[in-house]
Amino acid sequence: MKLNYPKKVYLNGAWIHPEEAKISVFDRGFLFGDGIYEVIPFYKGKLFLLTEHLDRLRYSLKEVELKCGITNFEALISKSIEEAELEKEDGAIYIQITRGMAPRTHHFPENYQATVLMYAYKAKLDNFQYKFIDTLVSTDLRWHRCDIKSVSLMANILANTEAKKEGFAENIMIRDGCFTEGSHSSLFFVKNETVYTHPNGPFILPGITRNLLIKLCKANNIEVVERALPVSELDMATEVFITGTTTQITAIKNLHFPDKILNFGEEIGKITKKLQGLFIDEVEKQIGVKI
Ligand code: PMP
Repeated sequence: MKLNYPKKVYLNGAWIHPEEAKISVFDRGFLFGDGIYEVIPFYKGKLFLLTEHLDRLRYSLKEVELKCGITNFEALISKSIEEAELEKEDGAIYIQITRGMAPRTHHFPENYQATVLMYAYKAKLDNFQYKFIDTLVSTDLRWHRCDIKSVSLMANILANTEAKKEGFAENIMIRDGCFTEGSHSSLFFVKNETVYTHPNGPFILPGITRNLLIKLCKANNIEVVERALPVSELDMATEVFITGTTTQITAIKNLHFPDKILNFGEEIGKITKKLQGLFIDEVEKQIGVKI
């Protein structure tokens, strides 16, 4: 899909054209990456898992002690779909909140007015169940608070650029000998019909899609274990897939290590397929529309 700027953006109280949206060079988001963000999907204009995404947004704000004064996120989010004229489309809402403008100091300024940016954009959310992708295995160079959806994404960007150079859309990352997650997705393995994923905590983002998937496994008698998978146990895995708001559930065909390629079959695995079906049913049930 061709990437475009949105039609309108919400910036600090006003809906404006992107060319008119300006922030200060002293905005702490620009100077330090001192801000957080959230991405919320919508299918045919209908928001999916809004409450869960807003809970995570509030968690990120709380963890970095960032006050933004916005109490009506829901109304602004709905308005952003209207402003972008995407009421019948698939897409996502991007929300970014930074600690605003202040003379440059590392510590928080005493007084600040948060910068709030929000917009809806079109995204391709159909046909994810047919993708069977290759990914690059990379070292996880991120900080120890990956549970915060911080806009400081340098390690993710470096890793993903490396993947892109080699022709892959995503990496999966290793920290201390164990798989953590993708540069912008959660990671799952299947071994003996059991699904494994890294436990929530400081080393992964608590993916909203990940959390839904765990619920779907439990409700459908698929055993799920939240444990970091050591690289040494990878040989036993028969299926690998990643999840995310716009990744949904994407099956992985090959893992590219620096010295070898590990293949996971010529067809998407049975459990991955089953979970993709359950995910589609869940979206359709919640939004009341076929996707
Ligand atoms: N991990 C990382 C590092 C991510 O950037 C994302 C995408 N937001 C995810 C996991 C998946 O999270 P979600 O399902 O909430 O999109």
